[in-house]
Amino acid sequence: MADPKGFLKVPERELPPRRPVPVRLMDWKEVYEQQDPTQLRRQAGRCMDCGVPFCHQGCPLGNLIPEWNDLMWRGDGRQAIERLHATNNFPEFTGRLCPAPCEASCVLGINQPPVTIKQVEVSIIDQAFQNGWVTPHPPERLTGKTVAVVGSGPAGLAAAQQLTRAGHTVAVYERDDRIGGLLRYGIPDFKMEKRQIEARLAQMQAEGTRFRAGVEIGVDISWDDLRARYDAVIVATGATVPRDLPIPGRDLAGVHFAMDYLVQQNRVGAGSHVAEQITAEGKHVVVIGGGDTGADCIGTAHRQGALSVTNLAIGKQPPTERPPHQPWPMFPTVFEVSSAHEEGGERRYLASTVEFLSNGAGEVRALRVAETEYLDGRRVPKAGTEREIPADLVLIAMGFTGPETDTIEPQLGLPVDASGAFARDADYSTAQPGVFVAGDAGRGQSLIVWAIAEGRAAAAQVDAFLEGSTSLPAPVAATDRAISI
Ligand SMILES: Cc1cc2nc3c(=O)[nH]c(=O)nc-3n(C[C@H](O)[C@H](O)[C@H](O)COP(=O)(O)OP(=O)(O)OC[C@H]3O[C@@H](n4cnc5c(N)ncnc54)[C@H](O)[C@@H]3O)c2cc1C
Ligand code: SF4
Repeated sequence: MADPKGFLKVPERELPPRRPVPVRLMDWKEVYEQQDPTQLRRQAGRCMDCGVPFCHQGCPLGNLIPEWNDLMWRGDGRQAIERLHATNNFPEFTGRLCPAPCEASCVLGINQPPVTIKQVEVSIIDQAFQNGWVTPHPPERLTGKTVAVVGSGPAGLAAAQQLTRAGHTVAVYERDDRIGGLLRYGIPDFKMEKRQIEARLAQMQAEGTRFRAGVEIGVDISWDDLRARYDAVIVATGATVPRDLPIPGRDLAGVHFAMDYLVQQNRVGAGSHVAEQITAEGKHVVVIGGGDTGADCIGTAHRQGALSVTNLAIGKQPPTERPPHQPWPMFPTVFEVSSAHEEGGERRYLASTVEFLSNGAGEVRALRVAETEYLDGRRVPKAGTEREIPADLVLIAMGFTGPETDTIEPQLGLPVDASGAFARDADYSTAQPGVFVAGDAGRGQSLIVWAIAEGRAAAAQVDAFLEGSTSLPAPVAATDRAISI
């Protein structure tokens, strides 16, 4: 156990500094600096090594949190990364991007600020990369079986790494020109620089995973062909269909889906040329939608030099404290101030957009927005409360309805279920023998930690399908829903 009195001696949470707002707005680098090792050790020492560590229950990966807290407190970073990698293929992604349901369910959080679990996690993996402790683990023998993984987001990558290490010959197909899924082209660099993806891909390539970027299955290779070529197929294509706002004026120039905007900036950041890039420079920007994607648009718009950024959310402002109906250890919906919110802009709640207004030349000039009222549990615009918000650029960040089905449904015969995601069994298998579904494609738009957990678990089921049994871990069933998030 880490320091038995650690949580008594150090009652407060300490996190590393964020770079000053005026400085970080001038570049696209990550916002957080590295934590001072003494401070990190002190924080790891707050862990109580609980008899029933609720942090495990909160983490879909079942991360061995008290073990690596203890190891970091003892200064044994090498063992810590072994224990962290035992349950998580990519802690550099979750350590930066996860909303940390583990912290919401940390026992210390009942009457003190919880352990800074996510910060300990990212410090372990950063130290491991810096010290050369992240090395390839190629398989000792090859099984002769082949697996195609379609989609190179965290679910596809986790499945591919597990199956490659189990001795199968794995190819990852990605329709984009670069590997990484939403980690690559959705999430901005200021949340996670792309070098984190490159470092992990180098390890995976050295282990033997093959990557085929720029190949769209269903178009460049039919799903039937793919099935014929491989012994098993994992569909990890994400849930990328954006929820639209079909109100008058939706077709005006200057109204875009958030992902069209974010992908372009990420392409430019990667050194690609984007003709007629959608940019916020010199514009009044309105972002519709108060989630992660909306926050990413806000941070991007400020870095591009927006004149103003207004963020509209249709619902009420969440409370700042855990509400009574979401007691510990549940993941509470509380008012969050992300690094992007800290950088500026205005957040408005109970705002229902009813119309996009034109400047007469086919371009958006303003939004007509009404107050939201609740009628029979439905959120509707309240008559007589409409007002205008000026806007030259509107970004719709209202979530995603599910996976793209155009080629998969007809060619592969995979139907969607009531939730709009691909139908599958608890073991990730589908009605098509040898075809499995993992990540957002089967769960709907979710979190990186769930995608990695599903990728690992689907890999175990594929291994069992190919070999008759498996020793790969399966942290979650496809039917598991969050207890805490
Ligand atoms: C803007 C944004 C910000 C987010 N921020 C966070 C965050 O901070 N923290 C967090 O935990 N989660 C975040 N999420 C959610 C998270 O990114 C996803 O839950 C996660 O990436 C899902 O992983 P996945 O592997 O299932 O799919 P994806 O990451 O969506 O990857 C699917 C890949 O499949 C490819 N593909 C699709 N069809 C085909 C085909 N036919 N052939 C070949 N390739 C194909 C796609 O091009 C894509 O690259 C965010 C999401 C968005 C949109
Ligand atoms: S619940 Fe919190 S205090 Fe208890 S073991 Fe997990 S991280 Fe440590």
